[in-house]
Amino acid sequence: MDERINKLLEQKKVKNTAMRQLVLAKFLEEKSAFSLTQLYDLLDWSEKSTIFRTLKTFVEKGILHTIDNGSGATLYALCSDNCSTHLHIDFHPHFKCEKCGKTICIDSQTFPEIKVPTGFEVKNINVNLSGICRDCKAL
Ligand SMILES: [Zn+2]
Ligand SMILES: [Zn+2]
Ligand SMILES: [Zn+2]
Repeated sequence: MDERINKLLEQKKVKNTAMRQLVLAKFLEEKSAFSLTQLYDLLDWSEKSTIFRTLKTFVEKGILHTIDNGSGATLYALCSDNCSTHLHIDFHPHFKCEKCGKTICIDSQTFPEIKVPTGFEVKNINVNLSGICRDCKAL
């Protein structure tokens, strides 16, 4: 078992369960984003609703963030250490590979600051890039 899983659950104050370990292991292994359906296919777990509840808890606790890349399905990806309960700071672009179909979080230091008129409060920014990922490019 990956020691990072226990550490992460402890750090974000989430109760450690077999299901949560299983889901988190997938995210740490693959380093890419998954939709609920993709996870359901990957995991040997019969209850889709259990997986969904786990994802929801992880989003609430600052372990996962959601991605809307226009595909219609919500994707989930690992947060940085700095996210916590109800406080997400995942303002970064997401890259979708046209070849393998994976969506990956891109750490960008040069994320553009978008000015909005007074009175508006930005809660979410979606920047979606697409192309060929590093792994596919190397093939
Ligand atoms: Zn986050
Ligand atoms: Zn790829
Ligand atoms: Zn991300």
